[in-house]
Amino acid sequence: MKEIKGIKISENASLKNLNTYKLESHAKYLIRVETLEGLIDLLKYLKESNINYFILGAGSNIIIDEYFDGAVIKLDGLRKIEVKDNIITSEAGVMMGALSCASMDHNLTGLEWAINIPGTVGGSIVGNAGAYKSEMFDSLVKIKVLDENLEIKELKKEEIKHTYRHTDLKGKNWIVLEATFKLEKGNKEESLELVKDRQERRNKTQPLDMPSAGSVFRNPEGDHAGRLIEEAGLKGYQIGGASVSTKHANFIVNTGNATSNDIKNLIELVHSQVKEKFNVDLVLEQEIIDWK
Ligand SMILES: Cc1cc2nc3c(=O)[nH]c(=O)nc-3n(C[C@H](O)[C@H](O)[C@H](O)COP(=O)(O)OP(=O)(O)OC[C@H]3O[C@@H](n4cnc5c(N)ncnc54)[C@H](O)[C@@H]3O)c2cc1C
Repeated sequence: MKEIKGIKISENASLKNLNTYKLESHAKYLIRVETLEGLIDLLKYLKESNINYFILGAGSNIIIDEYFDGAVIKLDGLRKIEVKDNIITSEAGVMMGALSCASMDHNLTGLEWAINIPGTVGGSIVGNAGAYKSEMFDSLVKIKVLDENLEIKELKKEEIKHTYRHTDLKGKNWIVLEATFKLEKGNKEESLELVKDRQERRNKTQPLDMPSAGSVFRNPEGDHAGRLIEEAGLKGYQIGGASVSTKHANFIVNTGNATSNDIKNLIELVHSQVKEKFNVDLVLEQEIIDWK
């Protein structure tokens, strides 16, 4: 691959530490983008050279295969956060925890929930991440994207279709560059108190000491996927190195050497058992990435 200013390339790079399931996986190229100009030049080159690419956030909502014969792109250099009064603008590579902390540091309220999301702002916009009855689109004003023609577009929140843990940005081949939120004036001490309580609750109820990608299925209307899976008797059920968590049934954990197939097979089994027992069609919240 040719040298391009504003990017760093590694060849045959391991992705094990770049996905929260800690799946063994390699990419032909791993590219860390340092500047927006570097990203645009890179994409021009990849398109001209017919090299497939994949935008990777923090890898906290995906199930990846062993090998990608293309370029995995990380927006590591896009990490600026700007706060003006109650408006906060964040580049896509910022981690949600950092965004949440920046908002609290400015005595703004509305993004406390985001401190627990181990993903980037870009990935969280695309999937409309959320917790505690809040979600990205609650306080979102607008986003900036790079479209398929490599043009920068601004989209108002109203122009993006979004539902629970889903947006129509998925599958559009656009790259989220930046997101702007409007928050309310708050109080840092009160925000930190809320965050502490929730963190304690998460530590008690979620298997945070094991590799996972958070909730496997979306909660069906008026119910909890975890309750259904637990009542189907699947807590602790294991396929290869993948296990339904004994702590929270809507988490699948990697017990050490899980493959993506172990996880996918376990997801299929859980889905079919819940369907058979309760006639509920659970919808996957995690994303199976098809690199074939
Ligand atoms: C322990 C744990 C707890 C979790 N708790 C929650 C929770 O409470 N609520 C919740 O909603 N989620 C939760 N998650 C899931 C996950 O953190 C979120 O879905 C998060 O928003 C994913 O962001 P990411 O950067 O990791 O995206 P990735 O997993 O890296 O990518 C997800 C998708 O977004 C695309 N993408 C990433 N960045 C961009 C970009 N800049 N432009 C365009 N496309 C992009 C990728 O190509 C991929 O298709 C949890 C995960 C873990 C491991």
